[in-house]
Amino acid sequence: MRYLQHSREHWDRCVSLASLTHALAYQDSSLLGNNMRVFSHYPTKSAAEVNANSYHHIVVGGGTAGCVLASRLSEDPKQMVLLIERGPVVDSWISQVPLISSNFQDQRAPVYKWQSAPMRGIGGKSLSLAAGKALGGTTKVNGLIYSRSAPGEYNAWKDAGRKKWSWQDVEPFFKKSEHSLSHSQAIGRGTQGSWVNQNVQTEQFDIVQKNIDMTTRFNIPRVSMANDSSSPNVACTPQDATIDSNGHRCSTEVAFLPKTLVSNRKNLSICTGAIVTALDIRQGEDGHLRAVGVCFSPDSGHLDHKYSAFAIREVILCAGAIVSPQLLLLSGIGPREHLEQVQIPVLKNLPGVGQCLQDHISVPLLYKVPLKDAVEGVLLGSPLRAATEFLKYAIFGKGLLSQQVQQFNITLPSALLDEQSRIPSDTPETQLDAQDPQNIPDIEVMFLPVNPTNLARVAPFIVF
Ligand SMILES: Cc1cc2nc3c(=O)[nH]c(=O)nc-3n(C[C@H](O)[C@H](O)[C@H](O)COP(=O)(O)OP(=O)(O)OC[C@H]3O[C@@H](n4cnc5c(N)ncnc54)[C@H](O)[C@@H]3O)c2cc1C
Repeated sequence: MRYLQHSREHWDRCVSLASLTHALAYQDSSLLGNNMRVFSHYPTKSAAEVNANSYHHIVVGGGTAGCVLASRLSEDPKQMVLLIERGPVVDSWISQVPLISSNFQDQRAPVYKWQSAPMRGIGGKSLSLAAGKALGGTTKVNGLIYSRSAPGEYNAWKDAGRKKWSWQDVEPFFKKSEHSLSHSQAIGRGTQGSWVNQNVQTEQFDIVQKNIDMTTRFNIPRVSMANDSSSPNVACTPQDATIDSNGHRCSTEVAFLPKTLVSNRKNLSICTGAIVTALDIRQGEDGHLRAVGVCFSPDSGHLDHKYSAFAIREVILCAGAIVSPQLLLLSGIGPREHLEQVQIPVLKNLPGVGQCLQDHISVPLLYKVPLKDAVEGVLLGSPLRAATEFLKYAIFGKGLLSQQVQQFNITLPSALLDEQSRIPSDTPETQLDAQDPQNIPDIEVMFLPVNPTNLARVAPFIVF
């Protein structure tokens, strides 16, 4: 049996195919076969072009949330909307290929990375964090899983005082925005929205299937549809992925701000390659502080080029879980002690800013598997198979490259597990109700037929 330990020979045999693919993949997408979006100029403005202008709404960060908001707000032609995004418009061929555009470890991927401060909860270790840096934000590089999360998460927000954020309140918006290709409205899914998702499961690896089969031994039921709000909180589920009918990644830029829409909306300006450095906050006559605009610079290292834009109604921060609070801190809103330490004048002492980040830390457990059961084995172990997959995708938009890496997951609340790591068969129904904030799953098991610790090494060979 050949194992997932590649010999030098395997790597070498793939170099020429990889080099060819690389040369093509980063070029204008119209060079390649018929399964491509034709590249054409996306209407953006530079920082200098929007400087000193006024808008009703300024959205900071054109990522996952920012694209949706800019799209919805500009539906009203009377509202002038500015979206400011730090990264570029990324429209390379590779950015559309589901499997390989998910490799955020590649140096050319549109991401930026941070190293966290040492964290108490994990013995003082520091973790690396990543986020997308492009129009579309992290949906340009993420794992493509379309997940609404457990209903109990939203009900917990409602219980904490956010009245309009219960599952019942937010579900209609999920339905409005999604276009499910695999599930019907009759079973609670949206089919009229623009964010396309589907359940793609054509290239199931044997090893993943074996894992799925094992779950019944742990009393974990197999649930056939992800994002089913009536499912229990313990489930093994095939995942929906934001992949369209052509086999392309459907980022929020593609879904909510396609080129034609942006070209037609004269009230919407999209400024890319500009980094917002602070909010312009002033005190009104009523004594209240109000964000009246933003300060920004070109994201080219020239931070001494200072520009501003003014907000008639509001500034909306959508710069991600790390940069949004950072911008508040840079603008003088945050814990007084910390701001004074770093010599930022305090406009408002708000101790919660920059605190309580919640993220899902992944702990890879690696197992040796037969080469045929791993993505690396298919793409690197056999140049013939790799070439076939490449052509299958380029011509038909099908095959391994048209899929997300994670096709199934298990979710469960760890509090329910017994000493043998099983869900007891007599678990009361009330503890399996996913609507209840007490029952929110805190463990997700992802079956990944790829070595996630090896991506940096794999990357140059399959030109992620
Ligand atoms: C590797 C990875 C894989 C993931 N996989 C999945 C998955 O499969 N399914 C899932 O549901 N979630 C996944 N996630 C999480 C999910 O993608 C994010 O939670 C979500 O995209 C965050 O959306 P956002 O709008 O808050 O931020 P982002 O999408 O990150 O957008 C923030 C935007 O703000 C811009 N920006 C930042 N600073 C500035 C500034 N100063 N000025 C102007 N612009 C700025 C950034 O360039 C970026 O475009 C993944 C995350 C990562 C990192």
